[in-house]
Amino acid sequence: MAEKRDYYEVLGVDKNATLDDIKKAYRKKAIQYHPDKNPGNKEAEEKFKEAAEAYSVLSDADKRARYDKFGHAGMGGQAGPDFSGGFGDLNDILNNLFGGGFGGFSGFGRGFGGDEGPSQRVSRGRDIRVRVKMTLEEIARGAEKEITIEKNVPCSECGGKGTKNASDIKTCPACHGTGQVKRVMNTFLGQSITYSTCQQCGGEGKVISNPCRHCGGTGLERKRETVKVKIPAGVENGMQLTVRGAGHAAKNNGVNGDLLVLIEEVQHPELKRDGNNLLYTKIISVTDAILGAEVEIPCLDGKYNVKIEPGTQSGTVVRLKGKGLPSLNSGTGDLYVKYIVWIPKKLSRDEKETLEKMRSSESFRPNPSREDKNFFDRLRDMF
Ligand SMILES: [Zn+2]
Ligand SMILES: [Zn+2]
Repeated sequence: MAEKRDYYEVLGVDKNATLDDIKKAYRKKAIQYHPDKNPGNKEAEEKFKEAAEAYSVLSDADKRARYDKFGHAGMGGQAGPDFSGGFGDLNDILNNLFGGGFGGFSGFGRGFGGDEGPSQRVSRGRDIRVRVKMTLEEIARGAEKEITIEKNVPCSECGGKGTKNASDIKTCPACHGTGQVKRVMNTFLGQSITYSTCQQCGGEGKVISNPCRHCGGTGLERKRETVKVKIPAGVENGMQLTVRGAGHAAKNNGVNGDLLVLIEEVQHPELKRDGNNLLYTKIISVTDAILGAEVEIPCLDGKYNVKIEPGTQSGTVVRLKGKGLPSLNSGTGDLYVKYIVWIPKKLSRDEKETLEKMRSSESFRPNPSREDKNFFDRLRDMF
């Protein structure tokens, strides 16, 4: 047995397609390949079955979730509908798809001439959403990221028209090219007029009588593409960049969708981000705190040696100016280093003896200077 194609590919929709997108796509395939319309055509029959199977999975939220997670392997070989009793009436299939009420596939022959329906919109391709991971180092400098996406591009065979002959493209007889059908209902309050997407042309306003074999009349084909996206310095988690026109192509050479790039910040192993500032906690020894020392501080552009003043209190915060992250607009944040003094728990007899001598020493008795008092006041306020 040939390997199964990806269900999204079968229906020609992307992974974020809504249920409505999926219904529309299946509708198109059903109209194109239903055995009633292609008597004796085995290839069309297979395509119809393939589309029906893809639809049966993707239109069911549970099955779709399972498929997204595990692929065909998750479906246990029992995904597809059962055709042992025939393929079902095409009109019924289409009616069921959109809840019925609008007649069948060929039921739109009556004209709505002269009615002023909403004008047809220029078709626009769907947006593509991707996530891009950024480390703080990359955020500090800005980065160029290569992103591989799968997207709809104009069909290479028909140039996006959906057929090779322009004469095979006709204005949809059901909606007269507007892509919308009008429904008038008489209620006790008077007439109520509603518009809905034309089912014969799927809202395109045009129907193709001899669709391109390569794209099945959609005018689109799937292509894997790697795009380079420049991410400016200073971005934050959750920000979204838009690359205009880099999304899916639209049918009938309409407007391309956008590529939406969501920034996902990778947590730094040592530094914590606070806006454009960075926070770092350095644990120092009692002796370094008393005698002063030089310690190594990790910054985004390498390690820096920083001097600890003799007599540094636990909880002291020092600022390394300009060692934070650049702002998207202007300026650069700072890196704040907080010193925490580590108190040893196990001491040798000698060490204990030395410390016992210091216990009674005048300089070891707490006696905060005015400067220290301000510092401890600030610490107290933090509780
Ligand atoms: Zn084509
Ligand atoms: Zn139409």
